[in-house]
Parts: sequence; structure tokens; C-alpha cells
Amino acid sequence: MRVGILGGTFDPVHYGHLVAGEEARHALSLERVIFVPSARPPHKPGYSVSAPEHRLAMLNVAIADNPYFEISTVDVDRPGYSYTVDTIALLQRQLGPDAELFFILGEDALADLPTWHEPEKLLRMCQLIAVNRPGYHSFSLRLLERQLPGVERRVHSVRIPELAIWSTELRARVASGLSIRYLVPSGVLAYIYEHGLYLNPDRPPAAA
Ligand code: ATP
Ligand code: MG
Repeated sequence: MRVGILGGTFDPVHYGHLVAGEEARHALSLERVIFVPSARPPHKPGYSVSAPEHRLAMLNVAIADNPYFEISTVDVDRPGYSYTVDTIALLQRQLGPDAELFFILGEDALADLPTWHEPEKLLRMCQLIAVNRPGYHSFSLRLLERQLPGVERRVHSVRIPELAIWSTELRARVASGLSIRYLVPSGVLAYIYEHGLYLNPDRPPAAA
């Protein structure tokens, strides 16, 4: 069984994430794509992430109409930092030895791979599916190979329709009263307004 894993903060989930998951699924014939919201990402120290309840609720609405998409709470359910190597190990244990795991990520995230916790181990545990993202066109797998020998043959590059959408920008748009309609699924939009998320960019609501 070929399984895609799409990790992220999803604060909030947007069409960029959904298109990445769908295109990766199709290109690599994945049977399912599991979205894994992170508990507290180690690389985002300056900003407090919205409560997992909110991020999970938005993800649930966003993936509801795609039978291949699901959510795992492995990361939000355990305390502390969620390193991707640990997440993948946990998921592999849960899914069993027959599951072949593919970690889906944008080229912005892939460029940072050498700074991740135990990247060589991660590459032994799963393959990567890298999708293009606007603003990262200078990304070079060749260059990454020099920093992290062996990475090239573990990465599948998938070209997707580019969507210039960032969660950071969506939060800023809500805070300044701009529309985010057509950038996130309508159910996600409704949830954000209903719960007053992102109105104050410095102080996210603690819990649902
Ligand atoms: P933030 O601005 O808070 O960092 P984000 O939009 O980058 O949010 P993340 O939750 O950080 O979203 O991203 C999770 C994963 O999805 C990462 O691997 C990222 O590269 C990928 N991704 C996010 N948005 C896009 C997009 N528009 N196109 C392609 N990949 C994307
Ligand atoms: Mg990001």
C-alpha cells in the first residue's frame, strides 16, 4: 500500500495544501494521503500556532469531500516537538510493514531538509514527493544533493499548478479585514469567521 503523508501547521489549511496532496496522489498512485497537523513546529519559534482543535476542525471540513484524504492526530496527541522522523516512525508502526510511505512537501520545505532532525534517517524511512511552490523557482535538487548525498534518488518531483497561497498571508489578510474567499474552501472560511480566528495576529485564540 502506497501512502502519502502531508505534514504541516495548517493554520489555516488552504487550496495550496489540497492541490499538493491531490497531485502527489495522482502522480505516484497513492492509495491514501494522510494530513498530519503538527503540535508545535520547532522551526516557527516566534509565533504561537492556533489551538490544535481549530486546525483539526478546519482540516476536517477541508478534506471531507475527498475519499482519499484523511487526518492523523499522532503529532497533536503527543507532547513536545514533532520531528518528522518520529512522526514517520509512528505512522509506519501504525500502518504496518506493508505501507510504503511518501512524505509530501513543498520545495520551500525541501530546501530546509539539511537543517531537519536526522535527515539521512528520514530518507531511509520514506521517499519524498516535492511539489513546486511560487517563489522557490531557484530550488535545485542538484545543490541539495551536495549537502545531503543520496537525497536525489529518494525525491520524486511533481509539478503542480502553482497557487501563491501561504497560511501566513491568509492570517494577515484576515487581521487586516481583507477577503480570503476562494483561497480556502468555503467551510474553512466559515469556520474562521465563526470562531474569530486570526483577528489579532499576535494573539491566537487558545482553544475551541
Ligand atoms: P505558513 O505560512 O504558516 O508557513 P504554509 O502555507 O507554508 O503556512 P504549512 O502548513 O507550513 O503551510 O505547509 C505544509 C506543507 O505544505 C509544506 O511542505 C509546504 O511546503 C506545503 N505547501 C503549503 N502551501 C503550499 C502551496 N501553495 N503550494 C505547494 N505546497 C505548499
Ligand atoms: Mg510553511
